[in-house]
Amino acid sequence: MSAVLVVVDHDRGTIAPASLGAVTAGRALARQIGGELHAVTIGAGADALAGVLAAHGASTVHQVHHAALVDYGPEAWGEALAAVVRALSPAVVLGCGTERGHEVVAQAAARLDAPAAMNCTEFDESFDGSGPLKVVRARWGGSLMEQAEVDAAVRFVTLANHVVEPSEAPVAHATTVHDVALPDSVLHSFVRDRVERTAGVTLATAPVVVSGGRGVGSAEAFAPLEELASLLGGVVGCSRAVTNNGWRNHADQVGQTGTRIAPDVYIACGISGAIQHWVGAMASKNIIAINTDKDANIVTKAGYAVIGDLHKVVPAISAEIRRRRGA
Ligand SMILES: Cc1cc2nc3c(=O)[nH]c(=O)nc-3n(C[C@H](O)[C@H](O)[C@H](O)COP(=O)(O)OP(=O)(O)OC[C@H]3O[C@@H](n4cnc5c(N)ncnc54)[C@H](O)[C@@H]3O)c2cc1C
Repeated sequence: MSAVLVVVDHDRGTIAPASLGAVTAGRALARQIGGELHAVTIGAGADALAGVLAAHGASTVHQVHHAALVDYGPEAWGEALAAVVRALSPAVVLGCGTERGHEVVAQAAARLDAPAAMNCTEFDESFDGSGPLKVVRARWGGSLMEQAEVDAAVRFVTLANHVVEPSEAPVAHATTVHDVALPDSVLHSFVRDRVERTAGVTLATAPVVVSGGRGVGSAEAFAPLEELASLLGGVVGCSRAVTNNGWRNHADQVGQTGTRIAPDVYIACGISGAIQHWVGAMASKNIIAINTDKDANIVTKAGYAVIGDLHKVVPAISAEIRRRRGA
């Protein structure tokens, strides 16, 4: 029976939420081709995820084991995935739209000399498991939607972020352990140090993101944004102009080459809203722009806008919140 194999992104056993969106999309594809839904976790540290994957419809969970598979390493994960694909020959390999999701699928596809289509938003509903898989995929940071065909025995694709919401469909499941041999040539990316930058909410999961751009002016001038984010139970994000200037770490960057986010509220302060930034923020449920330029791209797209100097507007919002809370 043909299968759809979903690649699970996780960090030492903590699953990336986008993985469950991919499992949900994979479930629909498997049903469509009359096949089984399988999932693969890489590293023994992720074995405990089998239950949650089965709760979302994976009837077989492949657990890849090797002593070196503790942290993510693109080449090692790519080779590990390629080993499972060689053994299983699934009709489709589906990764999620995280940086790792794209990278590990690309690594495995390259090792098997197969094509791969990233950031897919639609899969052809008439695909029956044979012939090319037609997809729609986001290119150029989402400014172009492309119709493409993945024509190979194993079709490697990734699902764009926030396209499919995870939903449960519990099934009984089996686990299969693959003890893989990894050549030294793939064991050269290691995590040497891990620093917890944000306890609790992260940029990817925070309900509120207060983001600053070039208009903030300096690293120190982010303090009022930090205060507002803290009052709202959120975190601070930024544009690439900010990371390029060294005002904040790349982990805070929203956008095409940063994190794609979908908070309840996104407050963009001194950010023009260039397309590469917008694609990372556009899934936000409510967008408030604070900008001196009423014609800035982000202002025209935001649900609410305050036209003014962020250095006055942001502290004024915080002061009003404190006043209403009686602090
Ligand atoms: C391949 C590629 C990938 C990229 N990836 C990303 C990405 O992931 N994320 C990203 O953000 N960018 C990305 N960029 C860069 C992107 O094109 C823009 O250059 C960048 O987003 C601009 O950042 P900004 O809006 O902070 O700065 P600007 O475009 O300079 O805008 C600054 C804004 O601040 C406003 N302003 C100034 N002073 C004040 C004030 N006192 N109060 C209120 N408003 C004020 C101005 O009116 C203006 O609208 C990428 C570019 C390329 C080519």
